[in-house]
Amino acid sequence: MILTYKIKHEQDFTEELKKAEQVAKYALEHKSLSSKDVKHIGLKSIISNQILRKYSRNKKLKRIKHVNLTIPNQGIKVDKNNREIRIPSLKFSFNYCFPNNFTKVNQIEINSEYVFVSVTVPEEAPMKTDNWIGVDLNTTGHIAVIANPQTGKVKKLGKKAKHVHEKYKHIRKRLQKAGKYRELKKVGDRERRIVKDLNHKISRVIVNIARKAKSGIRLEKLKGIREGTKTRKSFRYSLHSWSFYQLQKMIEYKAKLLGVPVEYVDPYYTSKKCSRCGAIGNRNGKIFECPECGHVDHADVNAAFNIALRTQIDPLQTGM
Ligand SMILES: [Zn+2]
Repeated sequence: MILTYKIKHEQDFTEELKKAEQVAKYALEHKSLSSKDVKHIGLKSIISNQILRKYSRNKKLKRIKHVNLTIPNQGIKVDKNNREIRIPSLKFSFNYCFPNNFTKVNQIEINSEYVFVSVTVPEEAPMKTDNWIGVDLNTTGHIAVIANPQTGKVKKLGKKAKHVHEKYKHIRKRLQKAGKYRELKKVGDRERRIVKDLNHKISRVIVNIARKAKSGIRLEKLKGIREGTKTRKSFRYSLHSWSFYQLQKMIEYKAKLLGVPVEYVDPYYTSKKCSRCGAIGNRNGKIFECPECGHVDHADVNAAFNIALRTQIDPLQTGM
């Protein structure tokens, strides 16, 4: 699996980035693939080669914006003992703190602020299992509720999220009224960072629970979210639902690395059906009640069990 890590750097690459843009412009105009043609610009050929390839071959690109410095594997030196990566052509080195288990650094991209390190990480063989834990997202009080039908155990994660969301909702409203759009964007970015951090932690816990229980993970197909969808009905809505999509993607790749299978199930009736007998029950706020068997449970917990036990399966197909 290929993972990309983002690391902040302190180096001034203004000159190189300017040159990179010139090379990209040349590539777009002349469709050249030879670094000799752009030698006069003065960017190292190992880097200009990458940019030429990207911008000469791409027929859809009409305009140039934000050209990164791209360094291929051959131009990268890795010192795993000291956790240092060197790029001789740029006389630049930096330290990394991501896990050392990668087999190869495929490529590095650099912009004015960040280094993007793309590495190949080995995956464990997918575990064979008949046991599944169910994960209910977007619950009444938590980010995720996890249920394991084999043990009957339940775990609720991410209670803090609601407070974060409420807090930022108020701040955003205030800023919007005051017309302070720059601050609004800053606050939005901050909230996104906090949510992302939380999602990383929660997905880690979920995958660890599944692995320890030798179970796969069943998730609900989220409604209205498709890959690559960027249209936003309202900022609040999009950030909210996007965070669940992000969490699912994090669970997917963390699970894949550890060989934990992930499946998506149809969310149809997960919150209305009784997880014990399958009858349609009544939901009253946070409480689920079954008129058939008398089962009473927290509504989110009942839903999580339904997800775990659901048999209509849509096997995960992802290239991640
Ligand atoms: Zn029942």
